[in-house]
Amino acid sequence: MTDFNLQGIGMTSRRTRNRLVERLRSAGIADERVLDAIASVPRHIFIDEALAHLAYEDSALPIGHSQTISQPYIVAAMTAAILAGGRRSGRTPRPSGASPRKVLEIGTGSGYQTAVLATLVETVYSVERIGALLGRARERLQALSIRNVSFKHADGSLGWPELAPFDAVLVTAGASHVPDALMEQMADGAPLVIPVGGGDVQQLMLFERNGDAWRQQTLEDVRFVPLLRGTRS
Ligand code: SAH
Repeated sequence: MTDFNLQGIGMTSRRTRNRLVERLRSAGIADERVLDAIASVPRHIFIDEALAHLAYEDSALPIGHSQTISQPYIVAAMTAAILAGGRRSGRTPRPSGASPRKVLEIGTGSGYQTAVLATLVETVYSVERIGALLGRARERLQALSIRNVSFKHADGSLGWPELAPFDAVLVTAGASHVPDALMEQMADGAPLVIPVGGGDVQQLMLFERNGDAWRQQTLEDVRFVPLLRGTRS
């Protein structure tokens, strides 16, 4: 029961997808698990059919409601940071090479980043403030038989307190500052990846919790839509 063309043809075929993977590899994405996930998730079902021929270009695209699906390179870089994070700190609770189990994602959008993450971690908890986007993302993940994701229609700056602590937190909207609630909901040793900055360009930051202290690292400049307060249908 699906209106999605999961296989893809022509500009959405597996061959076109593999070209994207090669492009990300030459752009510096080295984690094969992430590249495999990008190869296996059909990005064309996460965007409007009229734009499907652009699905495997390495660019952000509009998804309605003034929002965008993230650029594949950024999805890959953020996912790689989540998988690698928490292992660099001395007090890591995770054995080397193991994936985080409980990941909190803020800004479901199209659900593409959610789907990529879900193939690599045990459970994704994804929060979106726009109800219509959330509903469509849920349908797409169902069509892909991805079942290890729970969604919530809420203001993600508040995190998901009932389910904290999380082994990793990923924010896919630009924040002027890191919301306190997210910091509080991280497990010890957990990585938080978040674009920080008030303007059009933000810095992708990686924070790692170490007890009450946070180690921070700037990854690269990025352009995300803003993290906004409240919800809408
Ligand atoms: N990773 C997504 C990117 C979506 S764009 C994708 O690849 O499709 C960022 C998303 O964050 C938008 O859908 C926007 O509505 C959402 N967002 C912005 N502020 C939010 C908030 N406070 N809580 C939850 N979602 C938020």
